[in-house]
Amino acid sequence: MGEFDLIKQYFTRSNLDRADVVLAVGDDCAVTTIESHQQLVITTDTLVCGTHFLADIDPYDLGYKSVAVNLSDVASMGAKPTWVSLALTLPSVNEIWLTEFSRGLFEILDRYNVSLIGGDTTKGHLSITLTAQGILNKDSGLFRHKAKEGDFIFVSGTLGDSAAGLALLLNRPQNDYSVSQHNLLQRHLRPTPRVELGQALIGYSNCAIDISDGLLADLGHILKRSQVGATIELDKLPLSQNLIENYSLEQAETFALSGGEDYELCFTAAKEQREAMERALAKQGIAVICIGQVTEQTQGLVLTRNGEKVELPTRAGFNHFG
Ligand code: ADP
Ligand code: MG
Repeated sequence: MGEFDLIKQYFTRSNLDRADVVLAVGDDCAVTTIESHQQLVITTDTLVCGTHFLADIDPYDLGYKSVAVNLSDVASMGAKPTWVSLALTLPSVNEIWLTEFSRGLFEILDRYNVSLIGGDTTKGHLSITLTAQGILNKDSGLFRHKAKEGDFIFVSGTLGDSAAGLALLLNRPQNDYSVSQHNLLQRHLRPTPRVELGQALIGYSNCAIDISDGLLADLGHILKRSQVGATIELDKLPLSQNLIENYSLEQAETFALSGGEDYELCFTAAKEQREAMERALAKQGIAVICIGQVTEQTQGLVLTRNGEKVELPTRAGFNHFG
């Protein structure tokens, strides 16, 4: 099977595009439209075999996760994801692999009404690069540099599950997982981008980041860009029952603070917005919890337990060249 047949068979679905797609796969470029009151957000993430996923990963999960991590970035800006393009490098054409990969990819694209509008297909070591685009109304958005002293700091969902799932995969690659272990694995293999939450925060929050490298590292980006400090109460960290059942509290906390790939959102809200925001999110059934507060920059990042200051762990998060 040649390059063009491959694209046609696995990555072209002409009649399922959004109304704002003028031209998708097949020409030199895709063409899309936006309204005059809107702006575009654009992000790219690459997944490299051996670095971001294990060589024996289920291709369905790989297709799913490639999209999820990109939509997570769009969500963290408060935008609505609309279109993606896919640059796929394959060592060879394996039709079973491609069938499963594209099934996982379209499963999550369809879930969020996002169209695949183009890409590139090349031969080489397995690697997947997705570019996702989304739409944000003018004069709105969630930015890393917008945290203000006094703001409350929130996170969505639960933290540490994905890192715990990865630890299971690496330590015990058998199949006899308990239900709670299976749930942790799923959090690692098929993360949920917080697309609804990101959009729901517009009007209540100005500042968010998605937690891809661990809470401490990603909150650190907010603090640096916003030139502020923060106090985080460790007792408030949202840890899932699945995590607690399988690991000591200390290990669970380490996963939550420094493990990667939860793809939850960390965001801030001013005192005056907090109540209305919590009400709006509860109405949509979105779980978030306040874990601390923004302080002035000279305070740095302070962790507390039962009101007492505790030491920062030394390894803060994942860094490719660190
Ligand atoms: P060009 O030569 O202009 O780079 P290509 O021959 O690489 O175009 O691709 C042909 C068409 O197929 C283009 O519209 C491109 O966007 C699309 N395409 C290529 N690879 C993929 C892919 N993996 N997924 C989706 N669309 C793709
Ligand atoms: Mg090309």
